[in-house]
Amino acid sequence: MGKLSIVATPIGNLEDITLRALRTLKDCDVIYAEDTRVTAKLLTRYEIKKPVLRLDAVTELKKAGEIITRLENDEHIAFVSDAGTPCISDPGQRLVAAVRSREALGEVGRDIQIEAIPGPSALTAALSIAGIDVTKFTFLGFLPHKKGRQTALKKITESELPVVLYESPHRILKLLEECVQHRVSDIVIARELTKIHEEVISGTPSEVQKHFVEHPDTVKGEFVVIVEP
Ligand code: SAM
Repeated sequence: MGKLSIVATPIGNLEDITLRALRTLKDCDVIYAEDTRVTAKLLTRYEIKKPVLRLDAVTELKKAGEIITRLENDEHIAFVSDAGTPCISDPGQRLVAAVRSREALGEVGRDIQIEAIPGPSALTAALSIAGIDVTKFTFLGFLPHKKGRQTALKKITESELPVVLYESPHRILKLLEECVQHRVSDIVIARELTKIHEEVISGTPSEVQKHFVEHPDTVKGEFVVIVEP
């Protein structure tokens, strides 16, 4: 039976990988990766030797056909993104949808299995140490850069639930300024999770801005922003 494994990988610390993920990467026939160079570091660390082919956001749909053919030939394929859980603000969703829709065609599709190999995600890691009530929350991933950004920010300020965002170091200060302008009350920023410089900064957007002004060396790395309701 052909099998497509969607494998979560570390978001920084290479020890954050499940035994099942390692076994899957060792046992599969081929690994498709968002960036083969990034995945090569993980595979080297765990001495996994396996063919690795690129499948990124641009090539995802184009490569789906090739992958379906392999799955129909009973191959076991693993897909990994650069970090964390594929499909969460990462490629993978269109691949899974393409394989699923092929299954929906009927008879021929019955013998392909799609399995999740769960593991790290910056989303859940940040929520787990935010120290706020996250019984319910809204996840928006990356905000649009231009069109729709102001509308999204307005909705965030009106939200009754915590809103979780992903942000890059290039835009984190811009986002903070926008939070000030939109009178957001409190935010939590989880930076460089699982890495040496991991830190959580919380307070009003102005307080967090002040922190970054005083520690400009911390305006780098990766950020999860949680806007409190
Ligand atoms: N699929 C990934 C996941 O499951 O979290 C997310 C990939 S998305 C392209 C990358 C964004 O996730 C970064 O810009 C940042 O907002 C967040 N992120 C990833 N790793 C992180 C880390 N170690 N610490 C904080 N945020 C992180």
